[in-house]
Amino acid sequence: MLVSLKKTNNSKALKQLKKNYKQTDAYIHLTYAERFAFIREIADQVGSWRHARIFAECIDKVFFDPTKSKLSTEDQAFEQVISRFEHYMDNVSHSEDQTYGLLIHDNNETVSKKHTELMKRFHKQGTLWTSIKHIIETPLYVNSELTGMVQIADLCAFALRRFFENQETDILYRIMPRFDSHRGKMVGVRHFTEPTCQCEICSSHV
Ligand SMILES: [Zn+2]
Repeated sequence: MLVSLKKTNNSKALKQLKKNYKQTDAYIHLTYAERFAFIREIADQVGSWRHARIFAECIDKVFFDPTKSKLSTEDQAFEQVISRFEHYMDNVSHSEDQTYGLLIHDNNETVSKKHTELMKRFHKQGTLWTSIKHIIETPLYVNSELTGMVQIADLCAFALRRFFENQETDILYRIMPRFDSHRGKMVGVRHFTEPTCQCEICSSHV
């Protein structure tokens, strides 16, 4: 593929392709089946972490109306996840033994400034859903290539994406036990889509 693009001198496509392949450099020695087996193994590990909780906002962009919500998809997702994380820590806190958390975020220049500002606002005014009493600081931005837990968060996002876009349940079911639930209701993960959606995530909110 690289060769044929070089021949046609399509420099823009070549640049994009090189960029895409750069991300798979570390895995190129594995076959597709081996890569998937590796992902399954990590997902099983995550599923077994009894003290871990997963929070996610999965937005169907076809259904999302930015004029209605007055927020971008990234900002809505951020506000939702922050609110659920805060609720979770409030639920596990006791009056004399409070639980605090902080956010570690994949460094992305376009969102880092915006989310820092948003977080400062949430600290002062709260989100649309809750005041913030258990999240300290603004998010810490890290290089995901160097930070294993951020890669694991990416794997969870991948599992959710494959479920919503391709109805694949293999990876999802392995991490699902870690989706936060409260009083028997799964509250950590939301599918933002048409109200008639009958998927497993939407059904578990009813
Ligand atoms: Zn759904």
